[in-house]
Amino acid sequence: MIGPYTEVDSEVQAALDGELERQRTTIELIASENFASPAVLAAQGSVLTNKYAEGYPGKRYYGGCEQVDKVEVLAIERAREIFGTEHVNVQPHSGSQANEAAYAALIEPGDKVLSMDLAHGGHLTHGMKINFSGRTYDFVHYGVGEDGYIDYDEVREIALRERPRLILAGASAYPRVLHFDRFREIADEVGAFFLTDMAHIAGLVAADVHPSPVPYCEIVTTTTHKTLRGARGGMILCREEFAKKVNSRVFPGMQGGPLMHAIAGKAVAFGEALQPEFKDYARRIVENCRAMAEGLMEGGLNLVSGGTDNHLMLVDLRGTGTNGKDLEELLDQVGVTCNKNMIPNDPEPPTVTSGVRLGTAAMTTRGMGEEEMREISEIIAKAARGETDGLRDRVTALTEAFPLYA
Ligand SMILES: *Cc1c(COP(=O)(O)O)cnc(C)c1O
Repeated sequence: MIGPYTEVDSEVQAALDGELERQRTTIELIASENFASPAVLAAQGSVLTNKYAEGYPGKRYYGGCEQVDKVEVLAIERAREIFGTEHVNVQPHSGSQANEAAYAALIEPGDKVLSMDLAHGGHLTHGMKINFSGRTYDFVHYGVGEDGYIDYDEVREIALRERPRLILAGASAYPRVLHFDRFREIADEVGAFFLTDMAHIAGLVAADVHPSPVPYCEIVTTTTHKTLRGARGGMILCREEFAKKVNSRVFPGMQGGPLMHAIAGKAVAFGEALQPEFKDYARRIVENCRAMAEGLMEGGLNLVSGGTDNHLMLVDLRGTGTNGKDLEELLDQVGVTCNKNMIPNDPEPPTVTSGVRLGTAAMTTRGMGEEEMREISEIIAKAARGETDGLRDRVTALTEAFPLYA
């Protein structure tokens, strides 16, 4: 099912085998990761990688596109059904490229954009200086307040002062519900477009366990491989009036041939997301996240904003004697994978940080529930205190009880 790998290439094969073993034997808490189904893996590893299909279904620049057209139409139709949107472009190779094309569809180089501060949870494509976004557009930022929540009155004040052409919602490390209605009001008041990048929460939106940005936005961008659990890639949803612009900004504006094998993986994943079990899955991600958050707080750790509403949380390690870098490394040694992460107004540099970001999407896919989340939070709280004796064995007991790709 996972193989056969390239049996003629033992070096690559060994690394692939090693990676499968790593995924099987560790607890994966990186909030942007998940385990795609065997069907998604098979589609993404299919003969569609051989096909050039520049253009869009029915309007290709190459012959022989009958079958890939069917696949792309399926992906588009399924995504429209999941998110209730008018138009979908499934061709962006990644979330970053979805953003690049979406910005280009709405605004011109040099225009002002208001987005979440990277140091408060925003993504690098939301205006990091050396990223294409920061080099092309004039970004200004809002952040979170002392309580860890977005302060919408502050967003409005900044918008009134700065008069952006585009307002962006969405983040990579924000543990609370996003209020799209508030962003829309502010955008209307200042005459800005409103774009949501729902890369992290797309699976929760698909299952109605987080409000949908679609009714409020000109354009919504996303990745397909985080909580949505599909093949790695990007996607753009928009109103019909922006359809032509979005399509032409993706191809030929930014990309050449679409990755048809990845689009097949997206189509299969969207089919899975339309099943009733997916709703149940997304609901359990959030329940698991709450259980882990409670466990961590009972274990003496603080969380940014005091908890979570979605699939992730940010542990605030200030005053614990450890930091993001050290805890990430310590957890890695006992078989728990996570990433160090800046907390709002972090006193440490980005290479050290005072936080770790933890997410429950991947371990929920493995079938773990609230009891296991409490066990994992105990492991993390002990590691944060430097009490690592026996933790690797507890991790192994968990991973063996919930086999991956068995
Ligand atoms: C992950 C992420 C992206 C980018 O996705 P890539 O596929 O890694 O390019 C964009 N925006 C947000 C908010 C993200 O979390």
